[in-house]
Amino acid sequence: MQLHDKLEIVSGVGPALAAKFAQLNLYTIQDLLFYFPRRYDDYSNIQPIKALQPGVVTIRAQIKDIKGRYVRRGMHITEAVASDSSGSVRLTWFNQPYREDQTKRGQDYFITGTFAMSYQRLAITNPSIELVSDFPVSTARIVPVYRETKGLKSAQIRRVIRNVIPMVDKLNESLPAWVLKEQGLIGRAQALHQVHFPDDIKDLEEARARLGFEEVFELTLAALLNKYEILNTKTLKIPFKEALAKEFVGHLPFTLTDAQRKAVWQMYLDMQKAHPMNRLLEGDVGSGKTVVATMVALMAMEQGFQVAFMAPTELLARQHAETIHALLEPLGYADQVGLLVGGLKPNQKKLAQEHIADGSVRLIVGTHALIQEKVDMHKLGLVVIDEQHRFGVDQRKALQKKAGHMPHVLNMTATPIPRSLALTLYGEMDVTVLDAKPSNRLPIKTELCSPHSRKQLYSKLEAELKSGRQMFVVCPLITDSAMLQARSAEQVYKEFTERDFKQFKVGLLHGKQKAEDKNRVMEQFVKHELDILVSTTVIEVGVDVPNATVMLIENAERFGLAQIHQLRGRVGRSHHQGYCYLMLSDAKAPSQRLRALAGNQDGFALAELDLELRGPGAIYGTFQHGQLDLRIATLTDVKLITRARQAAQDVIDKGENLLDYKELYEHVNALRAVTNLN
Ligand code: ADP
Ligand code: MG
Repeated sequence: MQLHDKLEIVSGVGPALAAKFAQLNLYTIQDLLFYFPRRYDDYSNIQPIKALQPGVVTIRAQIKDIKGRYVRRGMHITEAVASDSSGSVRLTWFNQPYREDQTKRGQDYFITGTFAMSYQRLAITNPSIELVSDFPVSTARIVPVYRETKGLKSAQIRRVIRNVIPMVDKLNESLPAWVLKEQGLIGRAQALHQVHFPDDIKDLEEARARLGFEEVFELTLAALLNKYEILNTKTLKIPFKEALAKEFVGHLPFTLTDAQRKAVWQMYLDMQKAHPMNRLLEGDVGSGKTVVATMVALMAMEQGFQVAFMAPTELLARQHAETIHALLEPLGYADQVGLLVGGLKPNQKKLAQEHIADGSVRLIVGTHALIQEKVDMHKLGLVVIDEQHRFGVDQRKALQKKAGHMPHVLNMTATPIPRSLALTLYGEMDVTVLDAKPSNRLPIKTELCSPHSRKQLYSKLEAELKSGRQMFVVCPLITDSAMLQARSAEQVYKEFTERDFKQFKVGLLHGKQKAEDKNRVMEQFVKHELDILVSTTVIEVGVDVPNATVMLIENAERFGLAQIHQLRGRVGRSHHQGYCYLMLSDAKAPSQRLRALAGNQDGFALAELDLELRGPGAIYGTFQHGQLDLRIATLTDVKLITRARQAAQDVIDKGENLLDYKELYEHVNALRAVTNLN
């Protein structure tokens, strides 16, 4: 047998069984060795029969008087007596007629099952039995329980793994010996053996510690290697001009927060270096990232470089273009700001492309169109990526390819990144946190509402609108659906215009509208030609309308915590008090999770919670190979991650040649593509 042999060659595995394993993506012996148990049942306590108490029990006994019979049509019963030196107990199996022939008399068995009353007699019902002389995997030990699939039970998986487990000795150690020693970890073969068939709890813990460490170590090593690669790449330096920075700040309608000033300064330093900046600017919704990015971009523009400013949606791109235009107007740079999105008319698009090519437009705000369209970006000095986790790795890479060199990169996100992820997934980036909001902000009042209180709520909202504020309403659906019991934007729009908010101007915005309709509605709302905007989650990211103070979310329990936090961030963006109302589907809707939101303005804490509840993939974008779904370690274990990262750093500092550790090298290379966020 070889590690890469197909499972069919394992004794007891025919084509039919192999096909079932294939449903679990298990094809080779090696695949199976790395198919870790989901959990364990501890049947290691072997008791004398005399001492048995009702419950799950394990005994070591001989089996005699085994006899099967049909009690009625379709109902077969096998009965036997098991005896050890302390006494005897009845065994009963239902509908397992093969037991009678397969059980050997006069030999010692381990027997595990539930000891309880059955037909007025105490018996062990449907026990698993294994010969003591075999290597027991389902009885008398800590028993691994695997994720099953249709027609493939955990017990069967266990038996096949038993047949291949000696193969672990053919696996190479994947960590340097000094790392094992320093970290107090057991070897790989031993760990794999023990993770499937642990001798005791302590061995199991050691096995999991070793395998969990390996996972996180590989991830952090991949991120660090990417980081060093960037450090060794040359790019165009962008020197800092103090007078220009001062002029920009002088024209702002507000003073920058300390956090904003520090962030800008840090990035000016970054861009003066010979290697590309690769910084993540992390700031909760409303913390003022756009102005920071604009100020950084200005420095690049001034020196004749182009800046690509990428936004995840066309709506946001348009809004950014306008904001940046206004910010740069007083300095005389407004004409250098251009927009390139899919929704432009062909002649507008052509014009934009020409202006980019002849260099009269230096800051191009856009969506994916920036990647897809023919745009000449050979002078690209800086890429700003807003809401970076909304972009795939490939898209970001494509932009870089277009430029023909690696530009400085500023990633921005409102989704707080827990420290554990900052060290792993985001490990190659330098992180700056905007940890303070502009001082004029009040915490947003968040309330859970039952539909019974809709009337009272509406009269509160009416008062707020009458005082001159605006309101967002977000629904989970665009159109009513027979399948889903949830409120649709179209339905709510109808109710509002015809009945509930007749005296106000109401707009409707959703993803199925034409781009120009969306833009028109959004513009009307920004200009306060509309009081209420009924919408779907298209408005989730980035939209900035400081006069809007109310966010009403329908069927709130259908949304993720991070998502609601983002939506909530659309209000409370000025000195006015912001309100967020979470309308539940009905009085009985599950709301426990949502209560965390009501009591918590801290996007960071909510992100930690979301990470625990839904895993990293759901929050931090889609990662192609699912490699992030770690099998043993959790990405919330900061201690482990810190340790692994230090070890990875040591491996680099010591100049270890990864080619000496073939498997580590392969894994790390695969992970580099995943963690490479540029
Ligand atoms: P986000 O970080 O969510 O992208 P924005 O950049 O959209 O936030 O900024 C939110 C609002 O705060 C904008 O209206 C912006 O003009 C305003 N703003 C930004 N910085 C400050 C500041 N230092 N003081 C007051 N308002 C600010
Ligand atoms: Mg923003």
